[in-house]
Amino acid sequence: MLKLLFLGTSAARPTAERNVSALVLTREGETLLFECGEGTQRQMMRYGVTFALNEVFFTHFHGDHYLGIIGLVRTLGLQGRTEPMRLVGPRGAAKLLGQALALGVERPVFPVEYVEVEPGQVLARDGYELRVFGVEHGGGAVGYALAERDRLGRFDPDRARELGVPEGPLWGKLQRGQAVRLEDGREVTSETIVGAPRPGRKVVYSGDTRPCAATVEAARGADLLVHEATFGEEEKDRARETAHATAKEAAEVAKAAGARRLVLTHLSARYSRDPAVLLDEARAVFAETVVAKDGFETEILYPD
Ligand SMILES: [Zn+2]
Ligand SMILES: [Zn+2]
Repeated sequence: MLKLLFLGTSAARPTAERNVSALVLTREGETLLFECGEGTQRQMMRYGVTFALNEVFFTHFHGDHYLGIIGLVRTLGLQGRTEPMRLVGPRGAAKLLGQALALGVERPVFPVEYVEVEPGQVLARDGYELRVFGVEHGGGAVGYALAERDRLGRFDPDRARELGVPEGPLWGKLQRGQAVRLEDGREVTSETIVGAPRPGRKVVYSGDTRPCAATVEAARGADLLVHEATFGEEEKDRARETAHATAKEAAEVAKAAGARRLVLTHLSARYSRDPAVLLDEARAVFAETVVAKDGFETEILYPD
């Protein structure tokens, strides 16, 4: 199970309909929070997200992406949490988040560890990796790509029976790529019964950025790209000036990357109530697009 839940989809400031940035990724029971805009803890309660999470990832340090960490850490402290928490972000993370927490959390609480990452860095995890890529938003902003390891190839039970391999532990060995020897002395190799390894899933989150080659590269063949779309085409100059993207530009990134699906988020307040124009402009370029709203949840499935 790999799914995303959008807790906040508004750019810069909350609106009546939308809170500022936060995105929850759940994979095989593990919960990762990306961004923690003001009010994120309340959105977590509202949409049933566990507080037992150990890591928060930040793309950059504009207030709409991190101010919520103060309230979240406070609450977790009040609840008596003792487990450490890791806060991961680009350079400056330790200083900025450290200052924010020093200011907003009166008493020392559980241990908080700061991890600064840089573009090109790969964080190896159990069953997947997190790739950090540099985006164009100033201040060392980064995006994150979660790429699962290849899965085992498809096992062909009919072929196994045909070759006289008895069902049981030998099947498991073949599935894991090992050759087995049968009672009559014949050896059966894994390749004769198990297909080629199949790719895992890939989800990419751009954070705030101009459309850029690094996102295209990171999102190549992605099952899902989450890209900011702060503006519509009529404000494309403003998008350039403020280092943001339009919905159409986000769609062009998804198309260039050969991604399978695109979810737009981080909408300027003027599109908060009715993002139809963003959706239309994006879909004209990349049909498999949706605009997220707070509480929007989507599962990422294997292509096969
Ligand atoms: Zn932002
Ligand atoms: Zn920003």
